[in-house]
Amino acid sequence: MELSQPVEKVYLVGKVFARRLKKLGIETVGDLLTHFPFRYQDYSLVTKIALLQPGETVTIGGKILAIKNEFTKNRKKIQKAQVGDSTGIIEAVWYNQPFLVKTLSPGKFVSLSGKVNWFGKKLVMAMPEYELVTANLPQPTIHTGRLVPIYPETYGISSKWLRSRIAPLLEQCKDKLFEYLPYSILEKNQLINYKEAIYQIHFPESKEMAKKSRERLAFDELFLLLLASFKRRKEWESKTVGNKFQISKFQPQIQQFLKNLPFELTKSQRKAIGEILTDLSEAKPMNRLLEGDVGSGKTVVATVAMSVASLNGFQSAFMAPTEILAFQHFETISKLLSPWGIKIELVTGSQKPKGAVTQKYFPSADIIVGTHALIFKKLNFKKLALVVIDEQHRFGVEQRALLRQKGVSPHLLTMTATPIPRTVALTLYGDLDLSILKELPPGRMRVKTWVVPPEKRQAAYEWIKSQIKTYQTQAFVICPLIEESETLQAVKAATIEYHFLQKEVFPNFKIGLLHGRMKAKEKEVTLNQFRQGLLDILVATPVVEVGVDIPGATMMLIEGAERFGLAQLHQLRGRVGRRQKQSYCLLFSETNNPGILKRLKALETMFSGSVLAELDLKLRGPGEIYGTRQHGLPNLKVATFSDLILIEKAKISALKLLKEDANLAQFSPLKQKLEEYTIKPVSPD
Ligand code: ADP
Ligand code: MG
Repeated sequence: MELSQPVEKVYLVGKVFARRLKKLGIETVGDLLTHFPFRYQDYSLVTKIALLQPGETVTIGGKILAIKNEFTKNRKKIQKAQVGDSTGIIEAVWYNQPFLVKTLSPGKFVSLSGKVNWFGKKLVMAMPEYELVTANLPQPTIHTGRLVPIYPETYGISSKWLRSRIAPLLEQCKDKLFEYLPYSILEKNQLINYKEAIYQIHFPESKEMAKKSRERLAFDELFLLLLASFKRRKEWESKTVGNKFQISKFQPQIQQFLKNLPFELTKSQRKAIGEILTDLSEAKPMNRLLEGDVGSGKTVVATVAMSVASLNGFQSAFMAPTEILAFQHFETISKLLSPWGIKIELVTGSQKPKGAVTQKYFPSADIIVGTHALIFKKLNFKKLALVVIDEQHRFGVEQRALLRQKGVSPHLLTMTATPIPRTVALTLYGDLDLSILKELPPGRMRVKTWVVPPEKRQAAYEWIKSQIKTYQTQAFVICPLIEESETLQAVKAATIEYHFLQKEVFPNFKIGLLHGRMKAKEKEVTLNQFRQGLLDILVATPVVEVGVDIPGATMMLIEGAERFGLAQLHQLRGRVGRRQKQSYCLLFSETNNPGILKRLKALETMFSGSVLAELDLKLRGPGEIYGTRQHGLPNLKVATFSDLILIEKAKISALKLLKEDANLAQFSPLKQKLEEYTIKPVSPD
């Protein structure tokens, strides 16, 4: 069996289970083998029946002497079995599993794990895990009599199911789990062999081995990430820009432009601009990540860089993940730069330049703003010297590379609002230089945030009405997150909500609808109406999360708030509160689960994206904020970004290896692994 084969091919999996496994991110044989347990149930204490003590969690091995279904008073079925070994007999009881009288028919040998307790005057094992064995213990078991792995589960996929598939699969794939780390690295870091680690993480011999296997696999994850990013850095540094910038010559123009901005730049904006200008003056291409919370003003920083490119007579490309954003950036940038005679052009899927479909097209503008339509084959640049990628995590590695390839080693500026803790940034982006916008522009007021329970919904609607009437403000209504990408289902939910609000709740107000499946032109029209104040309320799918800027909107209402991560809610909330007007965020949730409400309430008092992201990490695990699909960050399975010691070890090993053999020519298994490990591109909506 090959690790790359679809998981459907695994014995006893098939189509139906394969579909369920997809929910756990398992699509191939290799994915199943690397679906690791998150804990173990300790059933390793094996005892004779005569020695059983009440309260103990143990495993016994014995023969089924008798088994029958009995009815309880409320007509539920319970199953009672007598199990005996050479020292005695004990009763085992299950509830509502009538099939057990067949599975565990008299004469069969079983291994039972669970808790022993008094039941009246006799000792009983209630609901033990069971596993058929061929004779008496000891023998290899997977559900009982050992440290038993407990896995992340999903509907129709239990840990027991996973164990039954993974155990034989491990045997079948023995020869495919080859070691790919050089021996010197294993030795230096005292790591166990790869195959051993995969075996032991699923079915550990001991707690010690479980720990060792985790250490090994965690090391691998960090090591591969670091190795990949150091390798990228090396490759990058060996390049020379095709179009060299002059900076000092244009200082007067740059200063004048900055002076004429409609606002004063923040300290971090000035620092970031300084760092970027220094990069731009060099012969090797810039590779810088500009990180800043929503509303921190990243666009204007990028705009300064692009204006410098055009002063030098070069072109810039600015790529945004959605058409909505591309339109908005086009307008913002035009407003700032057209007065200086700089030409700006927009290219999106629906706004392709005439002729570009059939023949090569060379835009003449200085700055070309667009969506991924910018990477069309027919679109060419004469002098592309600077590439800016907004919300960079929304694009795949390949898409970013394709745009860069339209120039000769152009400078690259990527931007993100995803708050990435420093350790994470170091591990993932060892190849990037980092500029951080630490503060928001002055005078911004905190967005007052409330979690609204179901019984207060009506009152909240009334309050929104009065706000709109009294202050002529506007509100966003964000529909629940159904899936990460825009599905038809999400569109339908938004459409229903739109009609409901228009008819039942806000009949006297003007409401608009915005979702990812609308034609670009329609989106633009709706958004412009909202921006101009022609609409009071905009009902939208979570697509507006990324960067939409509506000056008049002061209210953000989020339906099904519990479905979002805290960092995501914070980003959505950042759509309002962008001017010096008090803004509000109402988090609607139909749940009364105190844990969930408590999590949401964190937003009432916390206003830092990175603090909220850390909290999310703690409460919901890395998948939620650092999920590959959502933010372009890999979902670590075993390692954590907070394990600084392991990160340091992996870093030392990666650097040493690259120093010895920059192309990994002598380490082809590792090279192959590294290629498989590279983050897959994410498709934008
Ligand atoms: P983001 O970092 O989320 O992309 P934007 O670049 O969209 O943020 O900026 C958010 C808003 O703040 C815009 O309306 C922009 O004009 C404004 N802005 C940016 N910098 C400043 C500043 N230094 N002072 C006041 N307003 C600013
Ligand atoms: Mg932005």
